[in-house]
Amino acid sequence: MPNNPLLTAHTLPPFDEIRAQHVVPALDYLLEESRQRIEALALQAATTPPDWENFAAPLEDINDQLSNAWSPISHLNGTMNSPELREAYEACIGKLSDFSTWVGQHEGLFNAWQALKEGPGWATLDDAQKRAVENTLRDFRLAGVDLPAEKKARYGEIKSRLSTLTNQYSNNVLDATQAWHKDIHNAEDLAGVPESALATLKSLAQAKGVDGYRITLDFPSFYPVLSYADDRALREEVYTAFVTRASDQGPNAGKFDNAAIMEEILALRSELATLMGFATYADYSLATKMADSPQQVLDFLTDLAQRAVPQAREEFAELQDFAAQELGLENLQPWDVGYASEKLREARHAISQEQLRPYFPAPRVVDGLFSVVERLYGVRFEEKEHVASYHPDVRYFQITENDTPIAGFYLDLYAREGKRGGAWMADCRVRRQTSAGLQLPVAFLTCNFTPPVGDKPALLTHDEVTTLFHEFGHGLHHMLTRQTIADISGINGVAWDAVELPSQFMENYCWEREGLDLLAAHIDTGEPLPGELLERLQAAKNFQSAMGMVRQLEFSLFDLRLHHLGSAPDASHIQALLDDVRHQVAVMPAVPFNRFQNSFGHIFAGGYAAGYYSYKWAEVLSADAWSAFEEAGIFDPTTGQRFRQHILEQGGARDAAELFEAFRGREPSVEPLLRHSGIRAA
Ligand SMILES: [Zn+2]
Repeated sequence: MPNNPLLTAHTLPPFDEIRAQHVVPALDYLLEESRQRIEALALQAATTPPDWENFAAPLEDINDQLSNAWSPISHLNGTMNSPELREAYEACIGKLSDFSTWVGQHEGLFNAWQALKEGPGWATLDDAQKRAVENTLRDFRLAGVDLPAEKKARYGEIKSRLSTLTNQYSNNVLDATQAWHKDIHNAEDLAGVPESALATLKSLAQAKGVDGYRITLDFPSFYPVLSYADDRALREEVYTAFVTRASDQGPNAGKFDNAAIMEEILALRSELATLMGFATYADYSLATKMADSPQQVLDFLTDLAQRAVPQAREEFAELQDFAAQELGLENLQPWDVGYASEKLREARHAISQEQLRPYFPAPRVVDGLFSVVERLYGVRFEEKEHVASYHPDVRYFQITENDTPIAGFYLDLYAREGKRGGAWMADCRVRRQTSAGLQLPVAFLTCNFTPPVGDKPALLTHDEVTTLFHEFGHGLHHMLTRQTIADISGINGVAWDAVELPSQFMENYCWEREGLDLLAAHIDTGEPLPGELLERLQAAKNFQSAMGMVRQLEFSLFDLRLHHLGSAPDASHIQALLDDVRHQVAVMPAVPFNRFQNSFGHIFAGGYAAGYYSYKWAEVLSADAWSAFEEAGIFDPTTGQRFRQHILEQGGARDAAELFEAFRGREPSVEPLLRHSGIRAA
């Protein structure tokens, strides 16, 4: 084995030794070695009946060795990017994807798994092992491994054509987004736009060597213009450019049109579903999700719509009245909605994120987060010095229970150069049984908060505090697992539409007095969040919540119905379907030139095809789980232990629906979500 820190076994990554030049050689070595070992295991299984010890366990070792080497590389690429590292990383991702395709279509491996299921080995497996075998066989089948040769070839053609088309779709959206801009020379023409946004527009102009301000269709640029610019004609112009991207309408009509690409994507998805023995692509997509059938999802969305639409219409009527009376905007148009809503929000709930910052010094918030988790689950947090780190800002913590370590995590809170934006949880080590003993779970928790200046601690906004709790919820799902098989341990093997349950659940502690008292203390005076501020914060939470909900329902219903048609639609049929969904749930009539579908990347270029509903689905689960704590007390240790035992510890060991019922004692109810969103009972 070459001398390379990524190739030696470590409990935690040797961050002090890993360099960019180690990446490619380590990955090449591991992929080659993995291929050889997998071939050998498949061969052996053809003659010796496979069981857990002689087949599944060594295969898991191979995968784990690869992920333990890759997780720090991927994490460094996201948090400590440099030209050398980026080059090394990019050289590897193609090789990794080839490897996973090779594994996914490896017939010898598939036959071995099947022999384990059908042979003498099966009776010796425990429930968790059986579950892992069944998931693996399911994934092989959904990747077409057992199709007859001719269909398998067609499967490959469809997949490859789809990856080209979805990539073209997003390239068209990107090109259309970049093809439009508008330069403004006088600041007066941007009246209403806040200083910070003006600075962004100015720097965009400067970067292009232009005087004044440049509006582009990127979010940080167009969003403040639509939300704050007093000039109605300007808002209309920007709105029109935005909603006609990559279509046959608007300022670049026909130039980047995604219509034909959408038609072909939908036709191929439909063919793929048929090939795999499913009625529609929606049925195929749901095969690995918590929801049972497209009809169940449609009923779920329709039920929510029936409850939310009447209130959304009232909210919209209120907005129309306000706009007419206070802003002189008659005949509210789509390009007025964001603008008028901001004005209404200011009038109703004068509260800003900046006002809350002094109450949330980062060290206090982190301590408070730990206190919340300690009270709920009886575990302890302990910072470990002398753990090899990749940046001075990063801290490492151990979680212990009854003085025994059970998990660990790296906490990387602040934005810096070379760090990807946003917040996320990623796994560094997954909990599993190895021949050498138990491997404990380790997580990476990454945020991008404004760093501290001088010796003053960073002050967080309430949004940032909520984000930290959300990601820590994912982290607890990973770290408090009791599973010992990698494929169902932590968040592995958890259905796509259920994985946000633990994360959204944790956010609730940031909205309640009892939770906030553990994490809010004024930076200068140490006083808790004043009651009057808390009330305004809570009241503002549900501003226009029914309008927000029907918008999400519009996207979800459109996506699901589109992928649940008997035959593949053409562009005019796609439009007609969207119009029909809007007729059912939208409060603001769409303008005829709106081509939202041509830039709906989630479903045409991302992983959300026939899955957009997952956002709302998981929210129902998290709100209903929270309602159990509302009933018993939000720090009730018995309820906490039950949530831990039935949800957090189980990972993918059982179906998400079964786990939820085991915790809640009944099927999920939508009532708590409606109540928490301030939507009245019909
Ligand atoms: Zn999340």
